[in-house]
Amino acid sequence: MAMHSNQNYSLKSSNSFNIKASCSRIYFPSSLAELQQLPDLSAGNTSDKFYILGEGSNTLFVESQAPIIIQPKFNGISILEQDDRFVVTVGAAENWHDLVCFCLEQGIYGLENLALIPGSVGAAPVQNIGAYGVEFADFCQEIQWYEFASKTLQSLTKQACRFAYRDSIFKQERYNKGLITQVTFNFPKAWQANLSYAGLDILAKDSTAKQVMAQVIALRSSKLPDPKELPNAGSFFKNPIVNDADFAQLQQKYPKIPHYPQKNGEIKLAAGWLIDQAGLKGFRHGAVGVHQQQALVLVNYGSDLGADIISLAKYIQRKVAAKFSVSLIPEVRMITHKGERSFSSLSDSNPIEDINSIRGNRDD
Ligand code: NAP
Repeated sequence: MAMHSNQNYSLKSSNSFNIKASCSRIYFPSSLAELQQLPDLSAGNTSDKFYILGEGSNTLFVESQAPIIIQPKFNGISILEQDDRFVVTVGAAENWHDLVCFCLEQGIYGLENLALIPGSVGAAPVQNIGAYGVEFADFCQEIQWYEFASKTLQSLTKQACRFAYRDSIFKQERYNKGLITQVTFNFPKAWQANLSYAGLDILAKDSTAKQVMAQVIALRSSKLPDPKELPNAGSFFKNPIVNDADFAQLQQKYPKIPHYPQKNGEIKLAAGWLIDQAGLKGFRHGAVGVHQQQALVLVNYGSDLGADIISLAKYIQRKVAAKFSVSLIPEVRMITHKGERSFSSLSDSNPIEDINSIRGNRDD
């Protein structure tokens, strides 16, 4: 049977920012045979003209024209129970939060801190999603990967995926070389709640996984806008990581600056705090803005244009750099008609002017 595909496809309901964009072609492969029918995507000059889309919750279509889209449709969940663990294999197109709920209902614990993260299971490994002290990699056993060049399925161990903070081999060496079809998790039966983050530390040490999940859902719902009501893509920027010397200078100037030492000695800062302190929490420009409750989330009040979000993000980046000399890098992926591009390479067609600096100049 021929693979399901469409021409001139609107992506407005396929991205959580609700930006108006369309692609000339979209493919929905759901089997190895269908993957093998995809056009040759390994050839050098076409490799950056397509984008693999999950549920579009970490994607910004920067232009009204998007590249060719591949949206994998591999579904299904299977559970293998062993003496000391559950091995759970999940199709890439399954919804992440539904999987978290399903596992907890089956008495399989571990993903509770990752409740309510938008997106698909297949997207989770790409940026190694994380929240409240737990990350995807903690429970990953292996990834099933379709390689475009050889047209074969391969198994990648957790080690081979090289997971790091919001990073993996899928954003590095294997970028655009194939796609994730299936994820296998390993959940040890010996389970312990991870209550290290603020907001969860109020729970009793013997809390159940379901209680932890309920608290994570309550915390997230109180701060994060529901994309169905107020379109957004979750955290827009990554938390910046700085070295010791730069941090010492910052802390001298801003003694209250939140900071989290990393295993390698570097120091993670909270991007949301930096944006808030730059005076931008709740800032609104035209039809886009910075969320009132959580400054790390950019929201779309009704713009059709990805460029409006870009202008806002560049403005935030300038303001934070001016105040703290720290460079904010987006976590959200930037997609042009030619494929993905870095944020720094994107031009700002309609820069937001800084009212304070205009006033400042006049006073001089
Ligand atoms: P928060 O409690 O206001 O803290 C702000 C930042 O500080 C977080 O991003 C977190 O970094 C870091 N942090 C807080 N406590 C920490 C600890 N004990 N050890 C190390 N780092 C710590 O955070 P929030 O914005 O409400 O988010 C809560 C959690 O949900 C965080 O883990 C956050 O990453 C996650 N989240 C992710 C997204 C997304 O789209 N990626 C959106 C919303 C929330 P980390 O980000 O490294 O955890």
